Amino acid sequence: MKIALNHCILVTIDKNDRVIRDGCIVFDQGEIQSVGPADQVTLSPDTKIIDGGGRLAVLPGFVDVHSHSSLLKGYSENLNLLDWLPVYQREHQVLTERDAYWAAMLSYLEALKGGTTTVLDMYRHPQRCAEAATALGLRAHIAPYVADRSDKTFFETLDSNEAFIKACHNSDHGRIKALVGLEHLFYCTPEAYRRAQAMARHYDVQVHTHTSELNSEVEAVEKQFGRRPIELLDDYGMIGPRTILAHCVWLNEHEERLLVDGGIAGIALCPTSNAKLAGGVPPYYRYKNSGITMGLGTDGSISNNSLSMWELMKFASLTQKNLLGNAAALPAPEVLRLATIDGAKLLKQDHLIGSLEVGKRADIITVDLWQPHLMPFIDDGDHDPLIWNLVYAARASDVRDVWVDGRPVIQGGRSVRVDEAQALADALAQTIDLLERRRTTGAVAMVK
Ligand SMILES: [Zn+2]
Repeated sequence: MKIALNHCILVTIDKNDRVIRDGCIVFDQGEIQSVGPADQVTLSPDTKIIDGGGRLAVLPGFVDVHSHSSLLKGYSENLNLLDWLPVYQREHQVLTERDAYWAAMLSYLEALKGGTTTVLDMYRHPQRCAEAATALGLRAHIAPYVADRSDKTFFETLDSNEAFIKACHNSDHGRIKALVGLEHLFYCTPEAYRRAQAMARHYDVQVHTHTSELNSEVEAVEKQFGRRPIELLDDYGMIGPRTILAHCVWLNEHEERLLVDGGIAGIALCPTSNAKLAGGVPPYYRYKNSGITMGLGTDGSISNNSLSMWELMKFASLTQKNLLGNAAALPAPEVLRLATIDGAKLLKQDHLIGSLEVGKRADIITVDLWQPHLMPFIDDGDHDPLIWNLVYAARASDVRDVWVDGRPVIQGGRSVRVDEAQALADALAQTIDLLERRRTTGAVAMVK
């Protein structure tokens, strides 16, 4: 069905960051057909018209480029990374397919309700994650947690990763993408990296891994392997155009040069999660000046407790200002681009998503501006406060409607694809079961 969002404020994120005050956007068969001032867009009689009455902002959906589904938000707080890792591993030692499905369902539902239409999720039992994304209508790029060191036998393997690529890559009309995922240098052998690269080339998919999140982690890698993390990853053939690296808070100039020379796909910055682990602030401007593509990642509900890209944008912007002692650093329009079109570029999807432009897929969200915390949004001719107030004041709960590929997935703030109350009850029941199994590692898992 052809849909028009009329008399809305369109935040296009096109190359000129055009904001159209009394705008109209029309989409049909999943594709954006017109974007322009309301008085210049012709509406055919078969169009379903949603009249925003000047009170709705329309934006492209957010792209969260690094997340981890989980059922265990809030169960591993106040821990430094080295104390946190055993807790995290205990979860994975008992994690079943059913846990993964409900973790993905819960995480993806939270993401969608906040206006995120694409997630790069690194998690377990990826087929089940793909099922949850398909049920909800989310665009999901899924990277399994692969590990192959002898003491890490409870993660995914490159064999299970390959099976996932064969089964799910480009499924749900191309909305599901499979990646090759590698947990970390401490979890994977050199052979795993080499095979991962060969697999990515063979199936033409991206590769995703974590690195250089904490200074102490970099020191530990140097101590164990005698090389800095990016140097080691480069030795393993990992620094190339298919690879997306999460974090990269602690790179020296040589490592940064290796990323540029290797033509890396880009970096997923996770400033909130970095702050929560007291890991530092990613050097955004260094990478920007080197021409490295970056997007924003929540890092999932365990490391962040919130999958809101609104919160993440504000935090990313304010931490750069504070770090650099410069109130003009990472301004709202720029951080909004990081959360949308730049994230799409990182995933090699910017020809399809990330902005409101004719010919792109209709991944669209509306924000209800008629609320005290979003007033005012009037352009006085000298200054338009809209983007600033959206980035610094809007909340995930302000998102009213979400379409992915032109299909309604959230309407009036609620999923139209799953029974939310039932999904929450099922996810909670599964969490109780997982917590019990985690307490008594080795107990028989609840099976579907
Ligand atoms: Zn992560």
